[in-house]
Amino acid sequence: MGFVIMITGIPGVGKSTITKLALKRTRARFRLVNFGDMMFEEAVRMGLVKHRDEMRKLDPQTQKTLQLKAAQRIVEIAREEPVLIDTHATIKTPVGYLLGFPREVIEILNPNFIVIIEATPSEILGRRLRDLKRDRDVETEEQIARHQDLNRAAAISYAMHSNALIKIIENHEDKGLEEAVNELVKVLDLAVREYA
Ligand code: AMP
Ligand code: MG
Repeated sequence: MGFVIMITGIPGVGKSTITKLALKRTRARFRLVNFGDMMFEEAVRMGLVKHRDEMRKLDPQTQKTLQLKAAQRIVEIAREEPVLIDTHATIKTPVGYLLGFPREVIEILNPNFIVIIEATPSEILGRRLRDLKRDRDVETEEQIARHQDLNRAAAISYAMHSNALIKIIENHEDKGLEEAVNELVKVLDLAVREYA
């Protein structure tokens, strides 16, 4: 059992901002977990990396081990309370796109919803340029568009291996944020019914 929502979107789309605002508004009580944090804690414990932005450069098999560990911890949490996972549908690695949720991993998590936050490539590029905290890869608008296309395709494959419904939420400049937050609140509120 448990109620699990995965929230995905490429770096710079506004995923964390929307998620935090929606959590303040929903009547459902979610535990917010960052999948990257869970993987990172394990990676540090194993002595593999010192910074989270080094993880995507690890060999794919090692990343999969970290994904499995993270998923196992998260299902334990989901037994107790609804969980919202801040994560990525695919990760752009130096050697190609890595699935954020290979079959074994998505089967463990069995999410109820996969939310995809999207914006236009130019909006994403602008937000990335304003956020200098992270060691982000520099991408063109075409590359951003392709990555978003791939994330939709990945979401379909995750829905194939779970009971998830896919929800696409657009986060555009000027009042798009408000609407995006409202859309996410509607999805989160479903957890109240589930637990009632
Ligand atoms: P974030 O802070 O959400 O940008 O995530 C930081 C890092 O965590 C990413 O660059 C990835 O290396 C890793 N990460 C997050 N979610 C996943 C996932 N589902 N599969 C593999 N790596 C992930
Ligand atoms: Mg984030």
